[in-house]
Amino acid sequence: MRIGVLALQGAFAAHRDLLSTIEVESREVRLPGDLDEIDGLILPGGESTTMSNLLRSTSLLDPLSLFLSDGRPVMGTCAGMILLSHRILDGRSDQIALDALDVTVRRNGYGRQVDSFETDITIDDWDETFHAVFIRAPIIESAGSDVRVLAEHDGRPVLVRQDSVLAASFHPELTADGRIHSYFAGMVRDAKITPRNSKR
Ligand code: GLN
Repeated sequence: MRIGVLALQGAFAAHRDLLSTIEVESREVRLPGDLDEIDGLILPGGESTTMSNLLRSTSLLDPLSLFLSDGRPVMGTCAGMILLSHRILDGRSDQIALDALDVTVRRNGYGRQVDSFETDITIDDWDETFHAVFIRAPIIESAGSDVRVLAEHDGRPVLVRQDSVLAASFHPELTADGRIHSYFAGMVRDAKITPRNSKR
């Protein structure tokens, strides 16, 4: 099993470092052909408008959309979650919403850089809290009924799952805690055992 990390811009290196600490093989995804080499994909944090431009200029947009519509597992963190969402508020009119996750997000909804913060959140039925780092984070304003809320902060979802899509408004790669990445690796492993798409 190999997990790809979109490496156009942003915090991709930290995701690969954390995957290596939990002994999951990873590779950078920069070109369309890279998507054929992976079983699951992480869209990292960074700047969603810049990533949108780069997805277009590298011709990754169409193959990435296919990857998602095939139901192959993906995890988006912060800007990555914005890219996956159905609708983006306070975004740029030409920025990409891949519509793989039925949420409406508000960019920079928790405030500007100076308002970045860290807090402990409770995830689903996990025993120990998770230290979550929020950096110019998007707020999930609303979520469809198929979206499962795994964690909340201040009454808003911050970790959600819809089928093969996992998304966090914070940065799980910026702590040494590999539990969210392990959870995602479990999703990728399960999808590999029972692929949804007969082409695989
Ligand atoms: N505010 C950034 C954006 O709109 C996201 C910030 C982040 O990924 N840390 O893309």
